[in-house]
Amino acid sequence: MKDVQYLVLRKDNLSSFIAHLSKDQKVMAPVSKGYGNYAFEEVTSAEQVALKYIPTILPPKKFFMPQRETLIEYNLQSGLEVNAVLEHEKMTLFGVHTCDLAGIQCLNMVFSERPKDYNYLLRKRGISIIGLECNEYCDEYASCNIVNSNMPNGGYDLFFTDLGDCFVVHVNTQVGDEMVERTKMFEKPSRTHFDAFMALREAKSKIFKNEIPIEPRDIPELFDRSFDSEVWKELEQKCLSCGNCTNVCPTCYCFDLLDEMNLDLNSGRKFRKWDSCQLEPFAKVAGGENFRKSRAARQRHRYYRKFEYPVAKYSRFFCTGCGRCSRACMADIKLKDTLNALIKERMNKLWIKWL
Ligand code: SF4
Ligand code: SF4
Repeated sequence: MKDVQYLVLRKDNLSSFIAHLSKDQKVMAPVSKGYGNYAFEEVTSAEQVALKYIPTILPPKKFFMPQRETLIEYNLQSGLEVNAVLEHEKMTLFGVHTCDLAGIQCLNMVFSERPKDYNYLLRKRGISIIGLECNEYCDEYASCNIVNSNMPNGGYDLFFTDLGDCFVVHVNTQVGDEMVERTKMFEKPSRTHFDAFMALREAKSKIFKNEIPIEPRDIPELFDRSFDSEVWKELEQKCLSCGNCTNVCPTCYCFDLLDEMNLDLNSGRKFRKWDSCQLEPFAKVAGGENFRKSRAARQRHRYYRKFEYPVAKYSRFFCTGCGRCSRACMADIKLKDTLNALIKERMNKLWIKWL
């Protein structure tokens, strides 16, 4: 890779850039679906792309970990024939926000652990990622600043910052460098570009604020002391156990493994599909025991899987602050409200101790 890490792409060149990329691979980008909803879909020109969008209904994890995926096909006709299925295709994701870049980083950590998940890793190897900076908050549900994912922190090949008539582009990997070389549309930035870029980042630091009254580093301790919180019981009264919140979450990766036999009773497949810890049978084991029978226990588990357990295991939150769980919840359960309720309860307990 060359020394120059920042370049500029004029906005009127974006369509040619996307068209160029889509010659030999799919390009997926945020597209408006109406009523303020967006989805990552295949595009061939910039006109289809929503450059200003709130997090898509489903995060880009759907490309890394499809909702349903065949892992093994078998045939018993002539002895036992078992074949691993490793489906993947080359594609570029364009316009991935920093919260979703963080989500992909979380999934990478999980699926790179031993035993490695080759289906995931092979698919990931064929996907190039172009990030897109959020210059302002998406909406009232976003909480990216709480978990520090409102600024780029790696996980992309190129990263675009919109400066109005052009993008400042950070070239982060060899793959990104090759995209720049191949398309030949990028220019060196001028002093004016850099000044505008720095001014935007400065303005952002004033717009994005911590929306809870404690520092992010104190969140794990809050959860250490909140296992028996009344807040979980309050959530139990509201939660419908629909599983929307986990399906739309960029870091929820639980899946169920199932067998499906064809009508010939000789051939079939083993496949996996997304599962949700919010569904009642999720923690049910042989003998009928259910480790998280109550909705309170399941809600608590969901939050601990975001703010406590992954901090101990991976040294990072598994919440990226995208706000999707709050947007998608039919029972109006909001992540920021839950954090604030836990903090308030903790403060009250400390205050009583002082009296
Ligand atoms: S828990 Fe909610 S806000 Fe956090 S990453 Fe998942 S969907 Fe986004
Ligand atoms: S989306 Fe809301 S109602 Fe549905 S399981 Fe999640 S918290 Fe419960």
